[in-house]
Amino acid sequence: MTFRGQVTLDGPSGTGKSSVARGVAARLGAAYLDTGAMYRAATVAVLDAGVDPADADAVARTVGGARIEVGTDAATETVRVDGADVAVRIRGAEVTRAVSAVSAVPAVRRQLVEQQRALVAAAGAVVVEGRDIGTVVLPGAAVKIYLTAAPEARAQRRAAQLGITDPDEVAALAADLRRRDEFDSSRADSPLRPAADAVVVDSTELDQQGVVDRVVALVGSAVPAGERA
Ligand code: C5P
Repeated sequence: MTFRGQVTLDGPSGTGKSSVARGVAARLGAAYLDTGAMYRAATVAVLDAGVDPADADAVARTVGGARIEVGTDAATETVRVDGADVAVRIRGAEVTRAVSAVSAVPAVRRQLVEQQRALVAAAGAVVVEGRDIGTVVLPGAAVKIYLTAAPEARAQRRAAQLGITDPDEVAALAADLRRRDEFDSSRADSPLRPAADAVVVDSTELDQQGVVDRVVALVGSAVPAGERA
């Protein structure tokens, strides 16, 4: 199926969102935008400037002066801050700990949302992954998916991804996921929640391929046949 338009994929951490979004983009021949990578890149800029992530004014100033670049090719990951490749660093524990505080700053969100809309406008077909894409960034998107999974399943998946088997470390991961979800869901600006017109997909009992199939089927039934080719 050749698709033109936007598919939004929101939800908490550890639902397999990124793998699903990439898989759906590949199946649809669409571009892929990982907005979490943009907030993580902004966090790198904050940490490198020696700014306290809790100091909203300083965070806003620092991110405002940083050049954040994220690619939209589903097959390769490009993430740069002021020209430096930070694709590996953004996945580290230091960034993961600080990213929720940075992403709660309204000026940071305004800046990155503007950039996200420009990237989407430049792509004919795109799958956009994040927390507020269906609610705030692209409220008119053709297809909106909200991906969830039971908290234990999410912690187990994250652990498997990181190669962690020690029960204490898995428990620490689960606690970190809960902390980030609570922070993201309770912030004043653009909290994590499903859009009123989003389809909620629970991935607890589905493998990645099953979720990709489900989302591609939803895209197929939501897009009028004449607009698919
Ligand atoms: O998706 P990922 O786990 O990489 O996102 C990292 C963090 O970035 C989230 O915990 C959230 O605080 C923030 N984020 C956001 N809005 C988005 C995408 C990510 O606030 N659209």
